[in-house]
Amino acid sequence: MASDASTSEPVTADYRAILERERAGLAHQLAELGHGDSGGLNYDSNFADTSQVTAERGEAEALAGELKDALAEVEAALARVDNGTYGRCARCGQAIGPARLEAMPAAQLCITCASRS
Ligand SMILES: [Zn+2]
Repeated sequence: MASDASTSEPVTADYRAILERERAGLAHQLAELGHGDSGGLNYDSNFADTSQVTAERGEAEALAGELKDALAEVEAALARVDNGTYGRCARCGQAIGPARLEAMPAAQLCITCASRS
């Protein structure tokens, strides 16, 4: 008798906010690394090109690469929210578990497919 009307609500409603917050955070971190929209590194030209600076630059580059990958995943997830495929596995089409989406809002694969790759 007690039908739950709220189940008809799309599950994606909250995830957009979560993903947008994540995207903003990643963009902010990239900007701090000098990888903002302008692109390229903004190292102070007064820095001597010592090996230490080179090493730090390498670490920053690696971190920026990870952040860019994460940002691309978040943006892809937002696109899936828009076209209504968010929350479905990109490989098998099954629903991705809410617990997994909570832990990894940008997850593209269900846990079965992710562990199979
Ligand atoms: Zn799957």
